[in-house]
Amino acid sequence: MGSSLALSDRAEHTAPDLTGLIADRSRAIDASGIRRIFALAATLDDPINLSIGQPDFPVPKIVRDAASDAIESGVNGYSPTQGHPALLKRICSWLKADLDWDAPAVGTPSDSAAATFVTTGTSGALHLAYMALLNPGDECIIGDPYFVSYPHLATMCGAKAVKVDTYPDFRLTAERVEPLLNEKTKFVLLNTPSNPAGVTLTADECVELRELCASRGVLLISDEIYDEFVFSDGLTDSCVNDPSIKRFPTPARGASASDSVLLIRGFGKTYGCTGWRLGYASGPRAVIDEMAKLQQYTFVCAPSPLQAGASACFDADMRPMVADYEQRRDMILQRLSGLTTIASPSGAFYAFIEVPGHLGMTGTQFAEKLIERKVLVIPGGAFSDRDTHFRVSFATDPVKLKAGLEIIAELMTRG
Ligand code: PMP
Repeated sequence: MGSSLALSDRAEHTAPDLTGLIADRSRAIDASGIRRIFALAATLDDPINLSIGQPDFPVPKIVRDAASDAIESGVNGYSPTQGHPALLKRICSWLKADLDWDAPAVGTPSDSAAATFVTTGTSGALHLAYMALLNPGDECIIGDPYFVSYPHLATMCGAKAVKVDTYPDFRLTAERVEPLLNEKTKFVLLNTPSNPAGVTLTADECVELRELCASRGVLLISDEIYDEFVFSDGLTDSCVNDPSIKRFPTPARGASASDSVLLIRGFGKTYGCTGWRLGYASGPRAVIDEMAKLQQYTFVCAPSPLQAGASACFDADMRPMVADYEQRRDMILQRLSGLTTIASPSGAFYAFIEVPGHLGMTGTQFAEKLIERKVLVIPGGAFSDRDTHFRVSFATDPVKLKAGLEIIAELMTRG
């Protein structure tokens, strides 16, 4: 009697099959490739992990202190949707100094045609931009290889990300973009310095792309999450307020750029606080106002006490870290350049490296061979329609990086 009750209980509690409820936008997204590598990686003891997309240095102390002081002093409620006024003030004056860009906080009465607000990470800003701009059936243009979210965000909107093949130099130039523009195109998405290749455009390339977009009535979105991670060979422009300070070329430079460029930047990579989920978006007011409205009904606001921490970021000097990363970049080029093709990364902390043709392996097969030797990299197919390359992150301890490079070199030479 007791056991038959237990059986009927169990029958009553059989979980219904809910897979039929899942929306097409979610079904259309396949994350299996990268997940397989992470699953394999989880089985390894003390691997050489060159797959990680976040810095290996601690968050600067002034930034940590500002965040914990905010928590202790009770800054734990919502902030205004557009962000804490103190952080917005710092962002806006930074954009003025860096880019000669007049874009006050959302909601501030102003004659400026541009505006700025704080987002929940760079991903939050990207998500809101896609949501604000893409109708089902619309198109946006992205470079291939691309940051993993770029095509999927379009899918989520029922739209299509049209990929521009940028091999072998990974430069999203006006010449490559132009043939793909059509009446369905809403925006072109540039990422400089780029993930996965670390490539930065020249000032001329930036201006040409911006002018092409403006002339065709298309928005140029510039994802500059790695803006502070630019190496000496990628720095060419001068800071508007101080010509002795070198900056990297971006299409967002110049007072009128904010008419046609939506700038997206973040705090996570630069200051080692990826988990704080903080970024900002600045650009044409017509677009920014819509994004801020959508933020109100989705993310609500960026993490409030951590915004206080981010205000202190502007006082932290990250140049020693960047110089350190430049040396690691050089280690990669020195060890592997003779063995394969690498577009030299002038920023970020990634190199996108070709699997030597004589091995007859895909990027995935090469990454799997490396896993057998306890080295983790991401196969190029995770970022591209091609699977011919692999991504190495050099945001890792130089001793481990060196050991990993020896194993990669050995596999490239001997197979
Ligand atoms: N854009 C690019 C190019 C990235 O590489 C990343 C993170 N890897 C993001 C956006 C998202 O960054 P966040 O953590 O600020 O959302």
